[in-house]
Parts: sequence; structure tokens; C-alpha cells
Amino acid sequence: MIQDIFRKDLGDFESYSAGKTDYKVRLNANESFTNLDFETRKEIGTVIENSIYNRYPDPDALEVCDLYAKYANVLGINVMAGNGSDECIQIIAHTFLNTGDKVAMQSPDFSMYGLYTKVAGGIPIEFPLGAELELDVDGFISMANSEKVKIVFLSNPNNPTGNIIKREDIIKIIEGCKCIVVIDEAYFEFYGESILDKIDFYDNLIVLRTCSKIGLAAIRLGFMITNNVLMSELKKVKPPYNVNSITQSIACVILKKPEIIYNNVKNILAERVYLWEKLSCINGIKLYKAKANFILVEIPNALEIKEKLLKQSINVRSYTSGKLLNCLRITIGSREENNCLLKNII
Ligand code: PMP
Repeated sequence: MIQDIFRKDLGDFESYSAGKTDYKVRLNANESFTNLDFETRKEIGTVIENSIYNRYPDPDALEVCDLYAKYANVLGINVMAGNGSDECIQIIAHTFLNTGDKVAMQSPDFSMYGLYTKVAGGIPIEFPLGAELELDVDGFISMANSEKVKIVFLSNPNNPTGNIIKREDIIKIIEGCKCIVVIDEAYFEFYGESILDKIDFYDNLIVLRTCSKIGLAAIRLGFMITNNVLMSELKKVKPPYNVNSITQSIACVILKKPEIIYNNVKNILAERVYLWEKLSCINGIKLYKAKANFILVEIPNALEIKEKLLKQSINVRSYTSGKLLNCLRITIGSREENNCLLKNII
């Protein structure tokens, strides 16, 4: 039987399903609600027209990494580009894990940490968050050390809670955990605090970033930023040509004009204030801290509300188990989208 060849450890493994994308109001995937403006898209059009299609891309995406380094205030040699930060997570798992190695993460946190751990043959060890979805930092460190994990993954701000881990606690984790510590700053722009300034100070720190939340989800571009020693280890696993030429060209156009990103973030933050104020007026709703481009709300009959919203072609993220059973994660939309959600959520 062909199945005899398959990996036994992937037997009950479910493939990731991103779901349908054709809803009118898409508030489920933490994307930016505005497309690039017409002038910028025209400029990209010209760049694409002049692209070289018969040659492989720059394998190290050097110009992109240098431009991102400038944007993030680090050095280009400390930056590696990935096909989304998803790929960076996968590269990290494959670089450091042998079969049976353990990886620590919060529960809930971004699902790809567990998924890529398992794909690499590792074992995810989940540390439950507290009643207010806060992290018991000391408990987490002692769990990571007693389980002898190889890697810790933490998103900060956390997806899906929207909560943050304070800088001194992040430092405590980096110093306290005897393993690689990955701080995933996918939502950095909506929070404003980073641990990037410490990449050369610690030998075990990797920071992840992405372009997906700041208006460029379509081009699949993420980054990992770390010290030279970890970088040369990660390069052993990075697939060659992992970021295609078109993505590289488009990213260069945008990163040369970071004001496009700043403006977009400013608009999202303004809508976050609006949506937060309106949601908090709804009877019986509980809002969690919102430091990213979404708001996690706890609401009775969350799944019924989700179905009701879907009927109006409004999609939000719901959960079918655990602490988040009564929660919906609502991405910040445009004013029109937010109003449409608000009209239909009650
Ligand atoms: N990290 C976190 C915490 C995320 O929420 C996401 C996207 N949902 C990613 C990484 C992946 O982003 P990308 O689109 O760059 O693969």
C-alpha cells in the first residue's frame, strides 16, 4: 500500500485550511484594509514590465534585505528574507530540530509554530495562558527549561489574543530559556515596541517580521533577523531562490517609500480606536487588549454570531475549542467595513 510509505507521525495531521476568500467584508485574516494607491501600482506595473523572466531571482534577495534593514534599523547581513514569515518559521524548525525535539509555545498563539514543529518531527509543548490571556513568564521559562525545549516561539503582540509581553519579560525569557528564542513581531507596526536592538546582544535571539500586515499580503514576504552565528546556521536550510523576482521588485518599490507603510499603519490605528469604542458599547461583550491590527472579543453565542455575519458575507475568525470558544477575532477594517460589522454583530 502506498500509505505504508507515508510518515506515521503525520497520520492524524490536518492540513492547514485558509478557507474561502470571496466574502464581501474580510475581517478574518489580519490583512490591511487598503490596497496600494493607483500611482504606486502603476510604478510597480512598469517594474514588472521590465522584469527579467528567464533568470532565477537573486538567491539572497540582497536589495530587499538591505532596504528592510534600513526600515528596521539593523544591518542587511542580519536579515534573511522568506516566502512569508511562515517560511521563516519553517526554516527555523528545520534548522534546529531533530526528530523528537521539543518546542515551547503559548496556547493560544499562532498555529504555524505547532504545525511546522510537527512537520520537522518535533513535539510542540503548549503553555496555557491565564484567565486574562496573560503569560506567566516565570512559569513559562521553567516549563521550557524542564522540558529541555530546543526552541521557544512567541508572537508579540500575540495572535490571536492581541496582548503583549512587556520588554523586560521578553528579556527575562531570552536570558532564562536555554534555547533558541524566536520573537515573532508580525504585528510590530501596530504596537511600536521591538526587541530587534538586542539581536547582537544575545546568542539565542531570532526576530520575525512580515510585510503581510502592512499592506503587502499578496506578495508573500517575511524576514528573520538575527546575529551572524545563527544566520549562517539558518542559511544551511534556506531554500535557494525562495523569494521570487516579482516579489523582490515590488518590495523594493515600497521599501524605498516607507511613508506608504507609515500612512497605512496610521489609518489602521485610527480605525482600531473607532472599532474599539463602538464594540465596547455592546452589551455583554468583553474586549481583550488590542495591540495589533485586530480585536479579540468574547461574546455569548460567538459561533451563532459568526454564522449570522457569514450570511451577510462578513467573515471574522472564530474558534471551535479551548479558551477562545466564545471569542471572535475581528481584523480592523475600513470605516465602511467596520460599520457593516457593527450593524450586523448585534
Ligand atoms: N506570525 C504571526 C504571529 C502571524 O499572525 C502571521 C500571519 N497570520 C504570520 C506570522 C505569518 O505571516 P506571513 O504572511 O508573513 O507568512
